[in-house]
Amino acid sequence: MSQLRFKVVEEAFHKKPVDVPSPTQRPSEYFAKYVFNREKMFKYLPSEVYKKLVDVIDNGAALDRSIANEVAAGMKRWAVELGVTHYTHWFQPLTEGTAEKHDAFVEHDGKGGMLEDFSGKLLVQQESDGSSFPNGGIRNTFEARGYSAWDPSSPVFVVDDTLCIPTIFIAYTGESLDYKAPLLRSIHAVTKSALDVVHYFDPSVKKILSYLGWEQEYFLVDEGLYAARPDLLLTGRTLMGHEASKNQQLEDHYFGAIPTRVAAFMKDLEIQSLELGIPVKTRHNEVAPNQFELAPIYEECNLAVDHNMLVMSLMRKIARNHGFRVLLHEKPFKGVNGSGKHNNWSLGTDNGVLLMAPGKTSEENLRFITFVVNTLMAVYNHNGLLKASIMSATNSHRLGAHEAPPAIISSFLGSQLSKVLDHIEESDSEELESLNNKQGLNLNIPQIPELLIDNTDRNRTSPFAFTGNRFEFRAPGSESNCASAMIALNSAVAEQLIIFKKEVDGLIEKGEPKMSAILQIIRKYIKICKPIRFDGNGYSDEWKEEAKRRGLDCETSCPLIFDNYMKPETIKMFETTGVMQRKELEARNEVKWEMYVKKIQIEARVLGDLVMNHVVPVAIEYQTKLIDNAYKIKSLFTESEATALSAENLAIIKEIAEHTAYIKENVDALVEARKIANRIASIRERAIAYHDNITPMLEEIRDHIDKLELIVDDRMWTLPKYRELLFIR
Ligand code: ADP
Ligand code: MG
Repeated sequence: MSQLRFKVVEEAFHKKPVDVPSPTQRPSEYFAKYVFNREKMFKYLPSEVYKKLVDVIDNGAALDRSIANEVAAGMKRWAVELGVTHYTHWFQPLTEGTAEKHDAFVEHDGKGGMLEDFSGKLLVQQESDGSSFPNGGIRNTFEARGYSAWDPSSPVFVVDDTLCIPTIFIAYTGESLDYKAPLLRSIHAVTKSALDVVHYFDPSVKKILSYLGWEQEYFLVDEGLYAARPDLLLTGRTLMGHEASKNQQLEDHYFGAIPTRVAAFMKDLEIQSLELGIPVKTRHNEVAPNQFELAPIYEECNLAVDHNMLVMSLMRKIARNHGFRVLLHEKPFKGVNGSGKHNNWSLGTDNGVLLMAPGKTSEENLRFITFVVNTLMAVYNHNGLLKASIMSATNSHRLGAHEAPPAIISSFLGSQLSKVLDHIEESDSEELESLNNKQGLNLNIPQIPELLIDNTDRNRTSPFAFTGNRFEFRAPGSESNCASAMIALNSAVAEQLIIFKKEVDGLIEKGEPKMSAILQIIRKYIKICKPIRFDGNGYSDEWKEEAKRRGLDCETSCPLIFDNYMKPETIKMFETTGVMQRKELEARNEVKWEMYVKKIQIEARVLGDLVMNHVVPVAIEYQTKLIDNAYKIKSLFTESEATALSAENLAIIKEIAEHTAYIKENVDALVEARKIANRIASIRERAIAYHDNITPMLEEIRDHIDKLELIVDDRMWTLPKYRELLFIR
């Protein structure tokens, strides 16, 4: 009944996107329509310029400034044909979103006139006075200059009337202020070190590619209901709300039929993604009601990151056309599964070989084992950092909540691969020696190739699982930028491969045959990184105990987890791989702590407002009705009759009084606790105070509000409830 209390935004709001491909058009006809890809480069650029630009993109050659003007002119010609009037440098600041500043294709001629222009200079580099972007103190406001610089490895695209140029964002002094610059450096580091190692097996490989295939989970809520929940509007999650009588117990939503309105949204989203060259492929319902997932085919890591950022903004925009709001928050609803963003990660060669996939020959399989074991070593050595790379105020609600990976990084390999590693570990040196026969190496483990077929024994509780030809990092949050996790993983693996190469070369120099040298080092690593391997139930309490014994990072406090970025081994790892310097890491952590404080601060304020403006007044109004009723009963009946008749009401009156008293008292205490925390000068200490003192209070206050929600007359409750928010009609 109470659904009628709120005006649900109906399909009247459904607006068709500006240009819908006709039903007879195949996706291949409009795929990448709005992307300045090779096909368009070829068409709009002089052939010399085209060749040079492709060299820049494929081989990382330096961008020759002399071609920049011609590239810009070609791009502009293409864009203008699509009705474009503006361009923007599109970048990824540390706020998790994207940023853009739109400029028209005009320049002032300095004589009061205007020229229509878009020069190479404007394409390649732009000054940005974005001192309002978080920078952790790298740029003081008096020296607020930052630059955005074109990243030619990600193609330029058109959204509405704007040409979007993917850029990195760096300070005047050279430090990175975004995700993309360190991401590109980490990709460079891991592909270079992997190339050196792959040459042990195949000297003909020229290039290594780093891949990412993300899976994006999200919730949809009706726009009308969303607008009536200030907490959703301002914090992205519900700060209160009792569980609905039905939520996901029946698990009937997963792979169930997609509601019509949602299907229409998904279809638009897919079309517009395809037009932007994003190879979206799968869509389905998720475990929780109103929860869905979208995944593309995997791409090169840098492009995949850009595409994920684009998809998130497309989702926000298109959802509104369908009368929905998309919730990308990791935990919009208590007691219901949260949303993650699985990052499927792998490395491959320019001749199409996936390095995390078993091969057919024993040598190919040793290569496979080499990359798997080095990845495990990297994850083992930097498990705390990997956790820090995915941690945030919002994702911390999800991790360890019996639905998502725990706040401990471990790796699931499955029984077959585990057996192979155990076999290598257990064989003694002589045995290994004898394995190294003339034809190369016979590992005597014929089951490896079958791994490809049999990856059915999946473990959903593992944060870092081997899934047949890749690793799936499942801990990243739905709202986060994939780059954060990819920077940490690529860099850690890069460092590990460099160390591995040095060790193997050392043995070879001493006269050890190549394959036997590799096997010896691998065997050593298998022993060392054993604690990271865990195939059991990651949700169990026993695992937490066990992980502690194994020396894995078990910290659960978000601000303390960020400390992992400042550990000497982390700084050394990022510096030796050339990905980030200490100063950049320090600045980034400042930003992380600051964002943490701000998010909790906003939640505390919103909760305070909701309590004083919605919850307490409604509870008291209802209580007054009950008191009124008790008095009236008293005036009609004898005292003993009245006592009996009002007993239940009196109990509720008392209960409401107790809850409201608790809530008011604690909201005051919350304000006090915030004042104290805000006076702490160190941002790290302030974040710790917010975590230790403020977040538990939010939960305690919420418990009392949720109890009131159950007692108070439904017709009086002003906020949409879970049962309304969670079930799309
Ligand atoms: P799941 O069962 O985990 O949902 P999917 O088949 O939907 O698996 O694939 C998840 C993602 O993994 C997709 O984006 C897919 O393209 C990606 N993927 C598949 N193989 C690789 C690989 N070798 N490297 C990186 N990503 C991959
Ligand atoms: Mg998956």
